[in-house]
Amino acid sequence: MENMGEKEILEKLERKGVKPTANRILVLKALLSNSTPVSLSDLEDFIVTMDKSSIFRVLTLFLEHNVVHAMEDGSGSLKYEVCMSEGRCSLSDMHIHFYCEVCHRTYCFKTIHVPVMELPENFTPHFVNYMIKGECPECKRRHSEI
Ligand SMILES: [Zn+2]
Ligand SMILES: [Zn+2]
Ligand SMILES: [Zn+2]
Repeated sequence: MENMGEKEILEKLERKGVKPTANRILVLKALLSNSTPVSLSDLEDFIVTMDKSSIFRVLTLFLEHNVVHAMEDGSGSLKYEVCMSEGRCSLSDMHIHFYCEVCHRTYCFKTIHVPVMELPENFTPHFVNYMIKGECPECKRRHSEI
């Protein structure tokens, strides 16, 4: 996933119904090169050739077309991550996240899928934001050294 080439990036956008423009390709590449969800200001630091409002416009379009998912992790800023589903979003492609309350990093557990839950009749879920909060191994180690 992280090693996606130009061709795969174009295909991914087209499958989601998004016309690939230079800026859209740039933003998608930046998102893919990060292994964890990133905020708008992270992207701004990463993409020096685009200003904040242009990046935001692309993200808004990506959200509408489910190219990315946005999540609240507790850091105060929304984090974005590329959707792993090919076409329509499916819950079985969604994974859980871990927010470290000490170093404020969000970890992706790509191999741990969100648990399947029983919803009342006629409620159709589209997205699950499964965020676990706690302390990461690095912070735990630092803690025990002091
Ligand atoms: Zn999705
Ligand atoms: Zn930590
Ligand atoms: Zn993730």
